[in-house]
Amino acid sequence: MINVTKPFLPPQEEYDHYLQGIWSRKWLTNNGPLVNELELTLKNYFGVPHLFYVTNGTIALQLAIKALDLQGEVITTPFSFVATTSSIVWEGCTPVFVDIDPATYNIDPALIEAAITPQTTAILATHVFGNPCAAKEIGSIAAKHKLRVIYDAAHAFGTQYQGRSVLHQGDISTLSFHSTKLFHTIEGGALITHDAGLANKIAHMRNFGFHGPETFQGVGINGKNSEFHAAMGLCNLKYVQQILDRRHELTEVYHRMLKSLQVGKPFLHPNAGFNYAYYPVVFESEAVLLRMIDAMHGVYVYPRRYFYPSLEKLSYVRPGQEMQVSSDIASRVLCLPLYHELSVEEVKMICRAILRAERY
Ligand SMILES: *Cc1c(COP(=O)(O)O)cnc(C)c1O
Repeated sequence: MINVTKPFLPPQEEYDHYLQGIWSRKWLTNNGPLVNELELTLKNYFGVPHLFYVTNGTIALQLAIKALDLQGEVITTPFSFVATTSSIVWEGCTPVFVDIDPATYNIDPALIEAAITPQTTAILATHVFGNPCAAKEIGSIAAKHKLRVIYDAAHAFGTQYQGRSVLHQGDISTLSFHSTKLFHTIEGGALITHDAGLANKIAHMRNFGFHGPETFQGVGINGKNSEFHAAMGLCNLKYVQQILDRRHELTEVYHRMLKSLQVGKPFLHPNAGFNYAYYPVVFESEAVLLRMIDAMHGVYVYPRRYFYPSLEKLSYVRPGQEMQVSSDIASRVLCLPLYHELSVEEVKMICRAILRAERY
């Protein structure tokens, strides 16, 4: 059976080595030495000034919205994982959708200004499938209208934009280190910012607001992650370049094998370094997509409909926001299996199943 993804695991001895340290220190959580080491290593890896390791990518989004004191309307993309929208609602704000660019599948910067109202406070955009948003355009719109910008960068570990990590964009970027992601810590996430004031706020907010053992700086929540999770991150980081290279190689095999297939693929920003986090293909119609899924199930391959449905269809958002491009792409898009352990032979087998189904 081949699923859309399979988590990477390091050699067990390498994890055991970290466990021995945890056992001897008996420091399991609360900003322990491995959490600190992971944060420092990730900061160096991305070249960013402030990075906070938290429990998951969803709490990272919620903390980002809270740290920026957002209220009212938040402009966002309908083509993302549900957490991008649900975090806005969870924090008491109203998501206002702006349709995606049919070429990149990211929020269309040309449509943002028309959606701005006096209630708008921020833009929350996703670098979907690891393809960077039009951050320059989004940044100028935000500056002109005094809006804050959050990037949901859950897919963008290793993505470059203008010669450096895409995590430099916006007021805050958030990452997810869930097991299904390119780099994972079992569960986990992070917030990245350039702003020292925001960094100070986030540091307090993720630890109940504690400022010293008996005093508090504002309201907080528990967003801390454990030494065990950080240990997995430290193990996996050693392999991240291999993981990126392997995905690149498998992506090229897909490209070669599926050259003749009539499918759409996201246009990759020419100024970007892509991380090959996903292999999305957009079929001619939903009927073709369903036929392809059937054909793949026939050979025990289980791709996923990332992302379906388009998020304006959620029951808890303002009704009547029609997102033509996003709902059209969402109805036809499929992510093919892509993970470190997947073999070239398996990719070829998947492609052959697709090509057969296309003909008959
Ligand atoms: C995975 C993901 C999240 C949520 O991250 P978790 O770590 O699972 O909470 C948020 N946004 C996007 C785009 C994701 O893919």
